[in-house]
Amino acid sequence: MSMYTHTMVHYAEIALKGQNRPVFEKKLVENIRHAIGRNIKITRLYGRILIESVDASVLNNLKNVFGISHFSPCIETSLDIEEIKKGAVKIAKSVSAKTFKIDTSKSNKSFPMRTIDINTVVGDAVNVATNWGVKMKDPNVTVYVEIAEKAFVYTEKIPGPGGLPVGSAGTVLCLMSGGIDSPVAAWYAMKRGCTVIFVHFHTYTSKIENKLEKILEALSKYQHPSKMYLVPFYGVQEEIIKNVPEKMRMIVYRRMMFRIAEKIMEKEGALAFVTGDNIAQVASQTLENMSVIYADAKYPILSPLLGFDKKEIIKIAEKIGTFKESIVPYKDCCSTMIGKHPVTKAKKDVIENYEEALDIEKLVNNAVEKAEIMEKE
Ligand code: ATP
Ligand code: MG
Repeated sequence: MSMYTHTMVHYAEIALKGQNRPVFEKKLVENIRHAIGRNIKITRLYGRILIESVDASVLNNLKNVFGISHFSPCIETSLDIEEIKKGAVKIAKSVSAKTFKIDTSKSNKSFPMRTIDINTVVGDAVNVATNWGVKMKDPNVTVYVEIAEKAFVYTEKIPGPGGLPVGSAGTVLCLMSGGIDSPVAAWYAMKRGCTVIFVHFHTYTSKIENKLEKILEALSKYQHPSKMYLVPFYGVQEEIIKNVPEKMRMIVYRRMMFRIAEKIMEKEGALAFVTGDNIAQVASQTLENMSVIYADAKYPILSPLLGFDKKEIIKIAEKIGTFKESIVPYKDCCSTMIGKHPVTKAKKDVIENYEEALDIEKLVNNAVEKAEIMEKE
């Protein structure tokens, strides 16, 4: 059994948020609770969060909670310096090293000793017990001592994912294709504190639903719960095929997607779109095309992957657990219907001319009405 009793969680930027700080902290605690289960005690201490567990599954789940900068399995002791020394020695004896230092931080200002004196006294105790030498720069082991409502001693800082707690920055609507990019884009929005609701447009239901469910499941490790609108696109597609030349269809499909998604956005009180768009990843992803695709959207379109290379996106998709599902083959309404040689320099007036043949309002309302919702806890 581990000698550790608690896990100390440190958060990233939340500390900078001034008056909003309690709101952010509460959100973070709520998200941690969701991630690790209801029955484990979680306490908010000044500037940190203490969890009464060091289970491997708890530590593992903390790695997915945005807002956490790092966390540490620790020993809790009373505010008696002798107890603190004992804790430090106990931890030191459990690891092998030749050099060490003590790093004390003191948020409890009523504690009578100064930080440097704590370092010295605890350092002496560890030195006597282990015979290790003190080394300030790059020691083998750093023993951290935190003086708060109680004292906490630990050596390891496990990195968290950083960012801000999901739900602290408002809601966005992610256009999710089932490809590699859009799940990664959604993850980045979550990382900055957004609650992400998903919209997927489909023409072939059976296979893709299963695939999307798995992607949603992978992403709900970072956000609980998650919700996806599955919007039938065949009606829209049929009309576009009838009225728009093949090489321009992709542009019109995507403009229609934004028009439909806009209605869902308003229903959900979301404030911006998120897409997996990237500059020039494929021949048709030109700035000219994007500017026509985005031109009539009523809300901001956030594309967190704009500057990434595909290789970088794939690496992140692997890390966050969406890649495996994203590469399962499927028939995307765009990929099967855009035709072989889409335009690279779309012109807005030309596209608008073709759109005149479409009963946009009817198509949009029809699609929204028929949308189904999939949810993951
Ligand atoms: P992805 O890997 O996300 O599919 P992509 O590189 O294949 O991206 P496109 O197919 O051109 O790029 O699509 C660009 C963006 O448009 C997607 O990232 C997604 O946000 C949105 N999109 C495309 N198809 C759909 C769809 N069927 N449903 C919802 N959004 C879509
Ligand atoms: Mg795609």
